[in-house]
Amino acid sequence: MKVIKFGGSSLASSQQLQKVLSIVEADQQRKYVIVSAPGKRFDGDTKVTDLLIQYARQTIHHQDTQAVVASIIDRYAEIGHGFNVPETQLTPIFETIRNLPKQTYADNTYLMATFKAHGERLNAQLVAAVFQRSGLNARYLDPKEAGMVVTDVPDDAQIIKSSYDQLAKWADSEQILVIPGFFAYNRNGQICTFSRGGSDITGAIVARGVHAERYENFTDVDAIYAVNPNLVAKPAAINEMTFTEMRELSYAGFSVFHDEALIPAIEGNITVNVKNTNHPEAPGTLIKSTREPNPHYPVTGIASSSSFCSLYLRKYLLNKEVGLGRKILTILENHHISYEHMPSGIDDLTIIFDEHQLTPELEKTLVAEISAAINPDEIYFTHDYSILMLVGENMRNRVGIMSRAATALANDDIKLIMVNQGASEISIMFGVHDNDANQAVIALYKEFFN
Ligand code: ASP
Repeated sequence: MKVIKFGGSSLASSQQLQKVLSIVEADQQRKYVIVSAPGKRFDGDTKVTDLLIQYARQTIHHQDTQAVVASIIDRYAEIGHGFNVPETQLTPIFETIRNLPKQTYADNTYLMATFKAHGERLNAQLVAAVFQRSGLNARYLDPKEAGMVVTDVPDDAQIIKSSYDQLAKWADSEQILVIPGFFAYNRNGQICTFSRGGSDITGAIVARGVHAERYENFTDVDAIYAVNPNLVAKPAAINEMTFTEMRELSYAGFSVFHDEALIPAIEGNITVNVKNTNHPEAPGTLIKSTREPNPHYPVTGIASSSSFCSLYLRKYLLNKEVGLGRKILTILENHHISYEHMPSGIDDLTIIFDEHQLTPELEKTLVAEISAAINPDEIYFTHDYSILMLVGENMRNRVGIMSRAATALANDDIKLIMVNQGASEISIMFGVHDNDANQAVIALYKEFFN
């Protein structure tokens, strides 16, 4: 029995939904179908989720919502009419969209979550109607009925573990269950969403809950590639990778599969298969707990991300000062800020952060508080910071990877500002200036894949 999830581009139009229908029909094992909201039909198009965010903002600011409501309704109408879904089934969907502002919400964060979640909710209802019309024994299953309960964080919820016992009751379903991705309900019955792209998370949760043999994640690429295809033409496809490799690569920018979706898959030991809706016969990429080592390629993938910043601190005899680390970490904790890495020298220290957590004001406050606590000789933030990750299970058993990587970067005149061979031994992390990041990825790809 398989859980199968379709991303927004796979459900963007009636033409795309026809492909989804064929994929579901092709395999009787595909019993749990998780759907995203309709996504982009072409470059420059707007996802329904983004239209709903616009609609929520206009509602909050008491602005005219007519145009955005019409655009959202158009998206569902095109899909419904493409399959001759009767008006009696489409009208309630359109009415729900129009009536969203009339519901009562505890505050605007819950309003926003409910508006966003309706992209998936209404799409799952529509997809179930289309499946029924096509003769499939299918029905809509709401996350509430499924028993999925999440933490009370309206835009970044986490699943509550007891949900898995509830979901287990839906195991071995005879019917095809069409379940909306991206949202569930908190203990008070209010809608909360996962982070953006969170339908992948729903799919993994359902797969773990119903003990699926496989979680097929359909998107719009043939495979996960060893490197960003915008940087290298026709890069190597990754046929198989482990959960740990995927986790390390998604940390530094691989976004085909949501990193939070890996946790339920790991916990349930469910193999994930990333596949292409537009090319379903391609084998895609398998993500699983272990894999056969490929002796020719010590490196599985190379990722880079510029969403980091660093705080540099210099203080003479820093290594001798007792309690210095604790003082800094207490300040970070007081501001609810987590740090990513903290490479240190004898007299200096760099703290690397995910820059989404910081604002210019917060940075000033941190500099002031840390200065008052430890009196450094020099302290400043820099945003010109990219992290590159070289990842591969096979790296563990090979010597000389660091030397090959450093030589390839040096030959391309790329300055390294940080090197970190993680405790896992399956990844090496390099800090480089933003301007050098793309060239560095290309240099590493040439070294390890050409
Ligand atoms: N529709 C949501 C988003 O755009 C969730 C998803 O597509 O996975 O973020």
